[in-house]
Amino acid sequence: MSITSYEQVEQQINTLGGKPTVLEALWDGDTQGWYLCLSVYIKKNILGGETSHYLGTVTFGGDIRLFTGEVPSWPEAALAKEIGKRAEEKYGLTFYFPSPDDPDDDCPRWTERHLAISCADCNKLIIPTTSEYLPKDICYHCHLEREWNEKIKTEKPCDDGVTFFLYKEGIYQNNGYCSYFDSFTVAPYIKDIVESRKSNELVSLVEITTDEIRDLYIKLRKDVKPLLDNYKKPEIDPKMSKFKPIDKKAYDGTIYELEMKFNDEHRKISNFMYSIETAEKALNEEKIFVFSFKNGMTYRDDTMLRFINYVSKGSASVEAICKRYEKILNEQEVMDTIEKLKRAGCLKTDGTMITLTDLAKRII
Ligand SMILES: [Zn+2]
Repeated sequence: MSITSYEQVEQQINTLGGKPTVLEALWDGDTQGWYLCLSVYIKKNILGGETSHYLGTVTFGGDIRLFTGEVPSWPEAALAKEIGKRAEEKYGLTFYFPSPDDPDDDCPRWTERHLAISCADCNKLIIPTTSEYLPKDICYHCHLEREWNEKIKTEKPCDDGVTFFLYKEGIYQNNGYCSYFDSFTVAPYIKDIVESRKSNELVSLVEITTDEIRDLYIKLRKDVKPLLDNYKKPEIDPKMSKFKPIDKKAYDGTIYELEMKFNDEHRKISNFMYSIETAEKALNEEKIFVFSFKNGMTYRDDTMLRFINYVSKGSASVEAICKRYEKILNEQEVMDTIEKLKRAGCLKTDGTMITLTDLAKRII
C-alpha cells in the first residue's frame, strides 16, 4: 500500500486495535529508487509483547534527483516526519526513524537495536556492514562522504566530461554529454579541428563552423550508406520484445527498425542517424556546434561551482562558501579556489556576492 497521508496511517492503526507503541520508518531501495517502509508495533494487552504490523510505503519515485544537484532532497522523509509527529501527538507512541536525513538500508529495525552501533561520523544507528571493503565504524553514507571530502581536500583532477551544444545568438542548447570526446559519433570527423582550437584554459569552448558542419554532414551520410546496405531487419519473438526494445527511424523515406540493446550494428546506425539529424538541424536553424572541455579542473573547483549554481541558485557570499566547506577546507583554500575560478572566467564578484558566469554553466 502506498501511503500519502497521515489519515491513512491513523485509520490502519485504529483498525488493528490495541495500543500502538512504536511507529517505525525504515529505508529500502530497488532499481526504481529509495522508498520508506512504515510499520507500527502494537501491544494487545498488558502482559503480551509487541507485534509488528507493516503499514505500507512512502514513495515519490525515481532517483533522477540524485543527478540534478549537489544535495538531493527526500520528500519521503519530510512526509514520514510529518506522519510521525502527528502519530506521536495522537497516540503517545515513539516515532522511530533512524535515518531521517538520507536513505540508508543498514539501519536496524526497532527490535534489532541491540545489534546496532552508532556511526562514528553522524551518530546514526546502523548494523555494521559485513563487507570487507567498507569501514565498519561508519555508515555507508558517511563512507561516501569521507571519500568525496578526500577528493576535494587533495584536489583530485576532474577533467573528464565534454558537453556538446548547439549554439546561436547567445543561446546554448545542450545536445549531449560524454565522459570523453572520442565517444561522440562525430569525433573522428572533427578531431583535428577540435584539437587545433582547444586552448589550455581551465574551460575551453571549441566552435565548429557552419561550413564544417556541412562538410561533416556529407561525410556522415556517405559513411552510413554501407551500414544501411547491410542492414537486416531484426527478428524478435513478441514475448521478448520487452527485453529487446526497438527504435523505428526514418531515413531517406525508409523506415528502419533498430534493435538497440544487443545489436552493435544497429546501434551504430542509430548513432549515425542521430548525428546526421543533429547536423541537419544545425544547418536548418543556422546554429553552430560548440564543445566544452575542461583542463586543470579539480573536484574542489567542480564542487564549488556546483554548490554556487545548484544550492545557492547562482550566487553565494564568501561566508556561505566557507561555511559549506568548513569541515574540509580552511579559509585560505576557499579563497584560493575562488580566485582560480575567477581568473578562469567561471566566477565573478557582484557586490558582496560571488556569482557564476555563463562560461561556468557550460561545464556543470
Ligand atoms: Zn554516518
